[in-house]
Amino acid sequence: MRLSRYFLPILRETPKEAEIVSHRLMLRAGMMRQEAAGIYAFLPLGLRVLQKINAIVREEQNRSGAIEMLMPTIQPADLWRESGRYEAYGKEMLRIKDRHERDMLFGPTNEEMITEIFRAYVRSYKDLPLNLYHIQWKFRDEVRPRFGLMRGREFLMKDAYSFDRDQAGAVHSYNKMFVAYLRTFARLGLKSIPMRAESGPIGGNLSHEFIILADTGESEVYCHKDYLDFAVPGADVNFDNIAGLQGIVDKWTSLYAATSEKHDAANFAKLPADKQVSARGIEVGHIFYFGTKYSEPMKAVVAAGDGSEKPVHMGSYGIGPSRLVAAIIEASHDEAGIIWPEAVAPFHAAILNLKQGDAATDAACEQLYRDLSAKGVEVLYNDIDERAGAKFAASDLIGVPWQVMVGPRGLADGKVEVKKRADGSRELMSPAAALDRLSR
Ligand code: ATP
Ligand code: MG
Repeated sequence: MRLSRYFLPILRETPKEAEIVSHRLMLRAGMMRQEAAGIYAFLPLGLRVLQKINAIVREEQNRSGAIEMLMPTIQPADLWRESGRYEAYGKEMLRIKDRHERDMLFGPTNEEMITEIFRAYVRSYKDLPLNLYHIQWKFRDEVRPRFGLMRGREFLMKDAYSFDRDQAGAVHSYNKMFVAYLRTFARLGLKSIPMRAESGPIGGNLSHEFIILADTGESEVYCHKDYLDFAVPGADVNFDNIAGLQGIVDKWTSLYAATSEKHDAANFAKLPADKQVSARGIEVGHIFYFGTKYSEPMKAVVAAGDGSEKPVHMGSYGIGPSRLVAAIIEASHDEAGIIWPEAVAPFHAAILNLKQGDAATDAACEQLYRDLSAKGVEVLYNDIDERAGAKFAASDLIGVPWQVMVGPRGLADGKVEVKKRADGSRELMSPAAALDRLSR
């Protein structure tokens, strides 16, 4: 992508309304724009990151055996009357009437709708287990939308729903998601800690929030320090191995970890003082097992094989990709700007033309741009006519992992300078070596 043809509205001033660093940096880096309180447009750079996050979420959901679909954003109120949540959900639900005066709503979550879909088609326990997910916009009329994408009113959610014949099956389904979540957040460059949680309006009895530690997090959390060094299961983890998965979950729930709602100060105090982590955290995922809470009232039943019909056991599993964009920035930035982990970086590399208009420099940049693009490297070529200092600052701000500085002085020696954003290290090398390094 040539910057001269791109749409990257970088702000020089720090926007006043932004209280936390991720919000400030996202606005300054031209990633998003607020259209109303808690409602944002994703600008091209922000969208690239969101799509990278979605791709990783999707890969790990698929790996665990979940199946993607897509449900609508608008739902009929009658579905929610069946479960009893239409009244219970309160003001967070955006209620709408269509032209025929029918009650509709903008979905804050999809338990009812997926249960309706399930009961329309699935008849037998032989079709279970089943886990269906989608990645779709949600609307919750939060009392205090704030911190940009961290607590929006319209936000993206990956929500998965599992269906099992009995509790034992449902626990295995829960464990699959638990492990998929550990892998997902690790691949996003985050250290997530599963914490026992209240199950809130979704209801039920088994629930974990996946929390990443960050000073700006809204949750107060307490955990054992060793979680920060736990190894995350590899890509070869066998999701069908019931005992194996239970072993992983047992290990990841063996030490103290709780949000303030579930915090037990007396138990926490028993940890060795140097192992007590009391911090703030960001909830990036939340998983629930809630049994037959929806299947019973909504009559999602399957033939049990003995002539009887039984309501299915369900769980639901959420991840917030739009919140994750902000959470990753909270976890990875410095004074100069964002430091994207490679896996979600909007571009892999940036080429900085330090003397736009100089024939030799332009030619070297063009060549490198073509070569990198041909190798499939996502590269942003800063071909704007502005001073080098501004280009350095912009590149640092948007946080692309690799920067290639191309200028007349280096080229005189046949060299370009490659800078790694994460640690600021720089190395002079030939354009061919840079090509090799960046396309590895
Ligand atoms: P919170 O306690 O932060 O309000 P929640 O418990 O209401 O979250 P869930 O219903 O479990 O959230 O939703 C699943 C995921 O969706 C959350 O883990 C989070 O990543 C994301 N999410 C929830 N609410 C918001 C929001 N207002 N803005 C952005 N992401 C959100
Ligand atoms: Mg909430």
